[in-house]
Amino acid sequence: MNITTVGIIGAGTMGNGIAQACAVSGINVVMVDISDQAVAKGIATVSGSLDRLLKKEKITAADKDAALARIKGSTSYDDLKGAQLVIEAATENQDLKVKILKQIDALVAPEVIIASNTSSISITKLAAVTSRADRFIGMHFFNPVPMMALVEIIRGLQTSDATHAAVHALATQLGKTPITVKNAPGFVVNRILVPMINEAFFVLAEGLATPEDIDAGMKLGCNQPIGPLALADMVGLDVCLAVMEVYLSEFGDSKYRPCPLLKEMVAAGRLGRKTGQGVYSY
Ligand code: NAD
Repeated sequence: MNITTVGIIGAGTMGNGIAQACAVSGINVVMVDISDQAVAKGIATVSGSLDRLLKKEKITAADKDAALARIKGSTSYDDLKGAQLVIEAATENQDLKVKILKQIDALVAPEVIIASNTSSISITKLAAVTSRADRFIGMHFFNPVPMMALVEIIRGLQTSDATHAAVHALATQLGKTPITVKNAPGFVVNRILVPMINEAFFVLAEGLATPEDIDAGMKLGCNQPIGPLALADMVGLDVCLAVMEVYLSEFGDSKYRPCPLLKEMVAAGRLGRKTGQGVYSY
């Protein structure tokens, strides 16, 4: 399938990033959100991001104008009808996603592929609420989308080979490197990353080293660009804890037990950068 127009649900952090990645690769985009303000903010974010690329001479002014001209903002799902692929990137809430996906499924032609950018909800479960589980797939982009090379492509139990091939080709066309993953909590990257962050909290709680030395150890010893504790502060300690709790309940394996120190810090409201205090002070 040749994908020339992509519909995107949600103009937030991920939606507008995906829109930018598509538009600069020559793909037309219809980006839908619930209010004119949300749509305008998403387009303004793309414009600001393209300005930064222009300043760095990575694109020309003509490239910027052409990319922006490819993005149509809308508050109506009806405008998604011309897309060959619709990527759902709305707020991470299962009930909301189910509602949106049912609406889209009823609206777009049967051959249209529907993808979700969810970080934590089962792709197989979301696929099952549509009438096209074979044409449903996970496309998990990373933040910030224009900078991050990876896309995890998650196959639900019923995703067809043709759907996988079409989405894999599109990710490559966007200049991304796709990896293919079977549906399971956390997919691949977060499944490994978040337990590593949790383990860093155990190491901290046991008093084995200072936060600075734990982070320096992982940066210098494992070539990580940022230490796990500083990363936890960026992601949000509450988000890390919620993810560990999902793994513990979904896998039923005690190796995923959240570190008590992580729980204590979340209970104290020390959630990281967003509250000015996490492992470090901001
Ligand atoms: P966000 O809050 O920045 O944006 C979500 C957008 O969805 C908002 O603009 C909101 O108005 C819109 N929305 C809500 N209901 C809608 C509806 N019914 N129709 C259309 N739009 C609607 O959230 P985000 O960070 O962009 O996350 C979006 C998705 O991407 C989530 O599933 C999240 O788990 C996933 N994700 C996020 C990250 C990240 O680092 N932020 C990384 C990978 C995946």
